[in-house]
Amino acid sequence: MRTISLIKNKYIFLESIMKSETNHSSIIRPNNDLFNRKLFISKTNFQNVCWKCGIEQGISSLFCDKCNALQHPKEKENLFKVLSMEEDFKMDEGALKNKFRKMQSLIHPDKFSNRSSAEQSISEEYSSLINKAYNILQTPLKRAEHLLELKGQKLDENDKIDDPEFLMEMMSLNEEVEEAGDNKQLLKNLFEKNKCVIDQLEKEIEDNFRSNSIEKTKKNVIKLKYFISIHNKINKILRELGVTD
Ligand SMILES: [Zn+2]
Repeated sequence: MRTISLIKNKYIFLESIMKSETNHSSIIRPNNDLFNRKLFISKTNFQNVCWKCGIEQGISSLFCDKCNALQHPKEKENLFKVLSMEEDFKMDEGALKNKFRKMQSLIHPDKFSNRSSAEQSISEEYSSLINKAYNILQTPLKRAEHLLELKGQKLDENDKIDDPEFLMEMMSLNEEVEEAGDNKQLLKNLFEKNKCVIDQLEKEIEDNFRSNSIEKTKKNVIKLKYFISIHNKINKILRELGVTD
């Protein structure tokens, strides 16, 4: 009798599973959601728990609320988040500088000479990450490239301008710089002219990002690279001539 009842129960159990799989898929979904939510919670807990005392941390906490240990940087890939700046090409460079200085004053390895070696190495890692973020974000070309990378549109060597007219323009601009020789006034004029083009391109890139025109952005960022290389070339000559620092 007991065996029969067990078999019967098993049959009822199997039947209920079949039903829930065929007719009651909505019953299954909440369980999956619950499962995903549990995974999510354990993942975020893992990321936001103090490495030293295990107490949960806010996402932007630099130091543990309980034991005051310096926390690992949480967003290493997104350099805007490293410095708590808005993820945008338009950048308040003064605010960026302030944020950088403030964070560096809290995290600089010199501040951790009396702390544990674990905290010293976190401060070194964090400090170099902050330097890297600042260097990239303060330079419009690098900032644009990083922003493209965050959008999954990283530029590579194969991304070139396929426009003979533009390339001719760049060649003749390079020739103009070479022909200027050590004529300071001519070089200064070329520098100013080139700077105007750079400013204009940066404005266009700002608009391109705002309207999410990825192809236009990429094209203008590559163009900007050419003009920046001319900028650097003239700047180097002017420095050698003792005109600029
Ligand atoms: Zn702690």
